[in-house]
Amino acid sequence: MLYAEEVNQHTAELRWHPLLKQWVAVAALRQDRPQMPENWCPFCPGSGKVPDAYDVYLYPNDFAAFSFDNAPFSPETGLFQTTGAQGSCDVVLYSPEHTQLPSQLKVEQWMKVIDLWTHRTRELFAHSGVEYVVVFENTGVAIGVTMPHPHGQIYALPLVPPLVRTEIDSASEHFREHSECLYCRILSGELADGRRVVASNDSFVAVLPFFGRFPTEMQICSRRHFGTLEQLTGAEKQDLAALLSIARRKYDNLYGLQLPLMMMVRQSPAKGEHPYFHFHIDFLPIQRGPKKLKYLAGIESGTGTFLNDTRAEDQAEIMRNTEPRS
Ligand SMILES: [Zn+2]
Ligand SMILES: [Zn+2]
Repeated sequence: MLYAEEVNQHTAELRWHPLLKQWVAVAALRQDRPQMPENWCPFCPGSGKVPDAYDVYLYPNDFAAFSFDNAPFSPETGLFQTTGAQGSCDVVLYSPEHTQLPSQLKVEQWMKVIDLWTHRTRELFAHSGVEYVVVFENTGVAIGVTMPHPHGQIYALPLVPPLVRTEIDSASEHFREHSECLYCRILSGELADGRRVVASNDSFVAVLPFFGRFPTEMQICSRRHFGTLEQLTGAEKQDLAALLSIARRKYDNLYGLQLPLMMMVRQSPAKGEHPYFHFHIDFLPIQRGPKKLKYLAGIESGTGTFLNDTRAEDQAEIMRNTEPRS
């Protein structure tokens, strides 16, 4: 994550990858950005960059790859295409306390974080150039996050990203063939089997999916079929906050360290009807043992085929028995 005193000049564009049929964001940031003083955190109250008192706070990324100041997204046909990287990149500050870990946030604090996710999603969905809103978090030095202040991010994209598109296509195809939601079907299968379920409440189920690609990969899936953060009821928001709190504590207690992971909130695209998409949150950890990291190496990065060194059934049993037990 990058930040600075000044708004920096940078170029950002999307380049078309005709072999993989996807856009690559190229953001050649100015290399001479100012060095930040050591022991200074822009996210802490008193920094001058954030309010002197806040609970949760949306902080615009000064080095955003996606910006509403960039040229519009209007791709043309042909090879060697570029187009504008329109959108936004925000930082979501989970707490004013610099050293508080996400696993230490109280349920009430997670509810405030969810409110901020929802509020910003609503704003960005209304923007004509936004096709998708990605709410996510990268946590841990091993993932490249050196700033301990608890935070996540929200990106607004001018396109529906490939993995979301693939999920929508799979879910649409399943509905056409079976007249049922693919996610609801998977969830009922996981609940009937039970071996991979880690925790649950009235509104959500945390499960290590049968098909998990990452070690101890977890999905928090809503029991009710809906698509976006905006559609959460009050009770569901509370239940989601409670399960996020349980999941994060279990993860950090698994090996007794702050588990490096990515958290991805999966919601429907901003535009159009997507009745077959089903709200869920994916946790993608990269720790495969107390002292072992999982790298996305040749087979994963080079072929898109994942090797998972853990079995979901084994890890789910361990995670069920990891505090807090729910
Ligand atoms: Zn701080
Ligand atoms: Zn569903």
